[in-house]
Amino acid sequence: MIIADYHTHTHFSSDSKTHPEAQIQSAVKKGLSYLCFTDHEDMDYCFPDEFQLDIPAYTSYMENLRNIYEKQIQIGIGIEIGLQPHLSKRLSDFVSTYPFDFIIGSSHVVQHMDPYFPEFWNGRSEKESILSYYEDTLENIKRFDCFDVYGHIDYIIRYRPDKTKPYNYTDYADILDEILKTLIQKGKGIECNTAGFKYGLSQPNPERALLTRYKELGGEILTIGSDAHEPAHIAYDFEKLPSLLKTCGFDYYTIFHNRNPEFLSL
Ligand SMILES: [Zn+2]
Ligand SMILES: [Zn+2]
Repeated sequence: MIIADYHTHTHFSSDSKTHPEAQIQSAVKKGLSYLCFTDHEDMDYCFPDEFQLDIPAYTSYMENLRNIYEKQIQIGIGIEIGLQPHLSKRLSDFVSTYPFDFIIGSSHVVQHMDPYFPEFWNGRSEKESILSYYEDTLENIKRFDCFDVYGHIDYIIRYRPDKTKPYNYTDYADILDEILKTLIQKGKGIECNTAGFKYGLSQPNPERALLTRYKELGGEILTIGSDAHEPAHIAYDFEKLPSLLKTCGFDYYTIFHNRNPEFLSL
């Protein structure tokens, strides 16, 4: 059984209305031993004022909850930062203001557009759009050091306009290999994000082929997260993961305390 959810949101993120305590109570009820909050900071998002995290308010609130619930569950205080190449200095300074347990770096915005919105896909082929997303991801990995794992690497798949057409991993294998090799070389990891199941992909993000390739290339650091924005989604479909991840070659998954990885058996 997976006992750690390392990607969750609360009302400190502008796309969630959930009280942090409701997330904790859901995690305890579902038998988790570790829960890490990773609320959003997306500097320079497509719409101003969205996804801006008040770090002092957030961290002092979470520290208080961590103390209240310490006998029931271990609470990690993390953050999910939206990486864009031009933000490397600003974001590194921003996250260094607090000793986070864990930092997810994610690509949510490419050239000022979020693939969530249809405009991202207009005026070019699907393959070109997806490639531009992966090229930007690679650039972020090269420029940033202030993160522990890259979030939902193939996030872009969730928003393909025509999901009746297959997504072929092999069309992007070269750049994905470079992404994975660069992460491994820098001592960074990836996550297995089960929101993919919630979006009807029948796969987590990233999908099995990419998880398998990461392991083949020597990748060891793999956190697991539901990306829950509400209590019902804590540990979403985690029961599917032990067998899925073992077929990809993994025996362990990872949690972080004070930015240091620890490994738990699958
Ligand atoms: Zn994300
Ligand atoms: Zn998230």
